[in-house]
Amino acid sequence: MGGFLGGLREGKIYGRECKECSRILVPPRVFCEECFRPTDRWVQVADTGKVVTYSVSYVDTDATRLEEPVIVAVVELDGPSRNMGFMHRLGEVDPEHVNIGMKIQAVWKDETSREGAITDIVYFRPRREERSEDG
Ligand SMILES: [Zn+2]
Repeated sequence: MGGFLGGLREGKIYGRECKECSRILVPPRVFCEECFRPTDRWVQVADTGKVVTYSVSYVDTDATRLEEPVIVAVVELDGPSRNMGFMHRLGEVDPEHVNIGMKIQAVWKDETSREGAITDIVYFRPRREERSEDG
């Protein structure tokens, strides 16, 4: 996980490539569960992707009720193989405007406050070019 977390500190997302099946595993794994062999190398992937599935929660992790709902999505990045999603928060979007397949991009913490954790990505927001100009 070192290369992955170090990459996050630099504002980059890395996965592990398995040369046997040509998949890039994100979040990275040292072992390819399809080929039963160690993965080969670190590969940088985009910090853009799409929403695979999502849920809207009005309850915080400590069970208190939230004024603003939290939208949690399974995010599939551009680049890695399909079905390689991980969970993260969505932001800058109303729950009723979220849809499956929506194109999104990572919003990173300030460089100086990154700590090499998945939370260095604050949330994913809709990609701007996806918004229609009419109306
Ligand atoms: Zn493999």
